[in-house]
Amino acid sequence: WWDRVRPAPEDPIIGVTEAFLSDSSPFKINLGEGAYRDDEGKPVVLECVRKAQAKIAGSEFLELVSATVGSNLVEECVKLAYGKDSNFVKERKFAGIQALSGTGACRLFAEFQRRFYPESRIYLPIPTWPNHHNIWRDAQVPQSTFRYYNNSTKRLEFSAILDDIKNAPDGSFFLLHPCAHNPTGIDPTEEQWQEISYHLKVKNHFPFFDMAYQGIASGNLDKDAKAIQILVEDGHLVACAQSFSKNMGLYGHRVGCLSVLCADNKQAKAVRSQFQQIVRAMYSSPPVHGILLVSTILNDPELRKLWEEELEVITSRIMRMRVVLHQTLEELNSSLSWDHITNQVGMFCFSGLSPEQVEQLRSRFHVYVTHDGRISMGAVTTSNVEYLANAIHEVTKR
Ligand code: PMP
Repeated sequence: WWDRVRPAPEDPIIGVTEAFLSDSSPFKINLGEGAYRDDEGKPVVLECVRKAQAKIAGSEFLELVSATVGSNLVEECVKLAYGKDSNFVKERKFAGIQALSGTGACRLFAEFQRRFYPESRIYLPIPTWPNHHNIWRDAQVPQSTFRYYNNSTKRLEFSAILDDIKNAPDGSFFLLHPCAHNPTGIDPTEEQWQEISYHLKVKNHFPFFDMAYQGIASGNLDKDAKAIQILVEDGHLVACAQSFSKNMGLYGHRVGCLSVLCADNKQAKAVRSQFQQIVRAMYSSPPVHGILLVSTILNDPELRKLWEEELEVITSRIMRMRVVLHQTLEELNSSLSWDHITNQVGMFCFSGLSPEQVEQLRSRFHVYVTHDGRISMGAVTTSNVEYLANAIHEVTKR
């Protein structure tokens, strides 16, 4: 048995962490994973999560409680995504289900897409979070890509996005990052979203939003969901994958939601029952503890306010590190422009470093970033930012 099994290719992100862990240098820095750290470099448990934890202590094992709270989580999630005043939310014209975080929500949707629209393709932006390719591959949905980012200008390739939308076969599915695009940190403006929406509609394409960073782009939950709301107002039925890994720091708890807007309640019930059937056969039901934490925070006005304040702290710390990194590179008299560091938003800096320069960062400076030059700004701190700037400068000097 198993002679036919060959090792799978290394995961581009997990592989960086593995290399980092086996490096014994005291100077090493892991900027591969998108995990947020405080300015001391320590993992953060948000205060709102600690308080929610204290509040739910002892209630985790009550099955019925978990089921009820679980269903309320979906309602709170759709309010976050579509706005609490959305008619779809008020009239319950959505099918929603808890999912194993953003990854699980994407996987469920991909499965759903293949079952009910087997003739359709998924269009993924270039670049995108690499796991999107794996997820839709494993669900056996044919994939295509659309152009998104121009490596030379370090900006959105806006007209190319529109061209690729126009050229895709009618009724294609488009995966969109509503905020803090991973890995580029570049989002369309509101006007650009309007145009994207228009062209998607002309071609009867379906917009699928993967929202892994709500609140991490601007520090404001509503602002970060604006793209979704623009498309919905424009008449699209959309779907959305939501994750609390980053914005509540709950990576290990796998809390998320998949929702799809529907024309009426009847459709919503049918779609939801199909989600439930897919989940039932895959993993039956999600773990309860994280769901209780999130729904406690979303339902308690004080904890909710605290969460929003903590999101602002996170985003402003990341922004400060962007400013310092940019400034330090200028002070080192780098001949290159690093303006994109401060123009981008969210967790990542898409630095523009080549694979060779990334390799040099690793071998000469013990600084670990992904192969595509993506730097996790959430792990840059006051004590490592100068070392990082210097390392970047050294490997990019001509
Ligand atoms: N989508 C995007 C764009 C992401 O960046 C991530 C996290 N890296 C995810 C989904 C999934 O994360 P999780 O499963 O932890 O929610």
